[in-house]
Amino acid sequence: FEEIVKEDREVANAIQAEMERQNSHIELIASENWVSKAVMAAMGSPMTNKYAEGYPGRRYYGGCQCVDVVENLARERAKELFHCEYANVQPHSGAQANLAAMFAMVEPGDKVLGMNLDHGGHLSHGSPVNISGKYFDFASYGVNDDGFIDYDKVLEAAKQHQPKLIIAGASAYARTIDFKRFREIADEVGAYLMVDMAHIAGLVAAGEHPSPIPYAHVTTTTTHKTLRGPRGGMILSSKEMDEKFNFNKAVFPGTQGGPLMHVIAAKAVCFKEALQPEFKEYQAQIVKNAKALCKGLMDRGIKIVSGGTDNHLMLVDLTGCDVSGKELEKRLDEAHVTCNKNTIPNDPRSPFVTSGVRLGTPAVTTRGMKEPDMDQIAEIIAMVIQDEANIEKARTRALALAAKYPLI
Ligand code: PLP
Repeated sequence: FEEIVKEDREVANAIQAEMERQNSHIELIASENWVSKAVMAAMGSPMTNKYAEGYPGRRYYGGCQCVDVVENLARERAKELFHCEYANVQPHSGAQANLAAMFAMVEPGDKVLGMNLDHGGHLSHGSPVNISGKYFDFASYGVNDDGFIDYDKVLEAAKQHQPKLIIAGASAYARTIDFKRFREIADEVGAYLMVDMAHIAGLVAAGEHPSPIPYAHVTTTTTHKTLRGPRGGMILSSKEMDEKFNFNKAVFPGTQGGPLMHVIAAKAVCFKEALQPEFKEYQAQIVKNAKALCKGLMDRGIKIVSGGTDNHLMLVDLTGCDVSGKELEKRLDEAHVTCNKNTIPNDPRSPFVTSGVRLGTPAVTTRGMKEPDMDQIAEIIAMVIQDEANIEKARTRALALAAKYPLI
């Protein structure tokens, strides 16, 4: 960091301010986390200097012997962690992994069935503003009035639309996803099943959520959410599916150029950490904390979509409150609690305003917080929903809690 201070004061100041922000705020964005020093160091290593188009042993550049070691380590560890036969660790992000998987499995114009963005799905699962929605012919499924995926409705939609590919996985769904059922639906209509486990990858690795690997034809993920690695993506499958679809070719040269070898080194470190027994405890605590936060909110009269959570996140339902998702996000930010506004199923407000906020516990769990701390966070949130005038009091509490668990 001293080197940045010497070279570029403006960037150094922004980094310093961001470190202080992260340290002094309670981070509840469900897709964020705090990586280990080893993961951080691998990302800031000289591997960033290397071009390595191609794959280990088959590169388009000389001097790849050392980067080959880390890519092989990352691939082998990913396969061990998720019990699968094939891993591609090169996707630069989750959206890139999804694009490459779709590029490999379907043709432009083909019918694909994915979860509605407004019901918790992801932008890269067919949103009209995303390349997925522009290049493929997407139909969508959603959740029922209780906030749960209605598998009979998914089957109905699959029968109606006859998709070539079905995508399961979400960005804002708090309940266990039944991947076996999704595969049965896919089989019934002769579709392939792609699971995007980006949010729950850490839980899956630790056995806190059923694994999609035995059921999905392909599984994609990010590496930076519950999995607690560097920002990036990954594709997993069986040997047979890789032989059929050639995912390597779909990533490079299909949709990407040179891989980010410093990030791949950090992925390898992350997977090693995830293979340790402490990682299982960490993931179990994420779920315990999410349940405690959820209970703390509901005990204070706050509505939660689907009435609870099975994983690391929950959606607060603000219908009937004076405050919108946008306003609550702003109020909480002022109180040093960070979250994001989120549409809730059948949201009466626009996607820019929303009637919900999404809360998640991966980052606060990394800081060492436990169930009693979650109850304190629930109290802070309830105070801020109740009255804007409580922001100052809430901030004092949030600062005290953050100071108890310093990050750096
Ligand atoms: N898939 C899901 C389910 C996600 O929630 C996200 C990000 O939030 C992504 C994919 C995209 O990941 P990235 O932002 O790395 O492109």
